[in-house]
Amino acid sequence: MSDGWAATDDRDRSWMRRALALARRAADAGEVPVGAVLVRGDEVIGEGWNRPIGACDPTAHAEILALRSAAIQVGNYRLVDSTLYVTLEPCPMCAGAIVHARIARVVFGAADPRTGAAGTVFDLLRSSQLNHRAEVTGGVLAEDCGALLREFFRARRAVGSATGAEVTISAG
Ligand SMILES: [Zn+2]
Repeated sequence: MSDGWAATDDRDRSWMRRALALARRAADAGEVPVGAVLVRGDEVIGEGWNRPIGACDPTAHAEILALRSAAIQVGNYRLVDSTLYVTLEPCPMCAGAIVHARIARVVFGAADPRTGAAGTVFDLLRSSQLNHRAEVTGGVLAEDCGALLREFFRARRAVGSATGAEVTISAG
């Protein structure tokens, strides 16, 4: 785990379980399983799961869809005082959207060693060069979140080798 990620608690794990349930919906639809829940106080104000293939939209990551639905529900593109729970560390695109939305805190499950932008590869959420910084907690239910992704890719590889097709998938 990266230094500087804030501590977690039972409440974080409870919301992460909800994000995991959303990630499973993505897997059921053949999408890379990532789920996201945006919470303010004790209220869910937005949620989403990864669906770039189904939506034919390269920006349809779980975090973006959760932010969009929350902004419409709240009637404000700034989602101050909210916490985003997401099963996989946000990519640079999603981290940028999180900064634009002024989200106070980001809690993620599995770290992403390829494109993670919450401290693993990039640290966009805590960059002093941007005009907003979020508190970051990583590694919450990381085993469950990572296992869901590994199982998904293992199954896809099995399909690919059975058909001789090349299977190339990009994660959250
Ligand atoms: Zn993303």
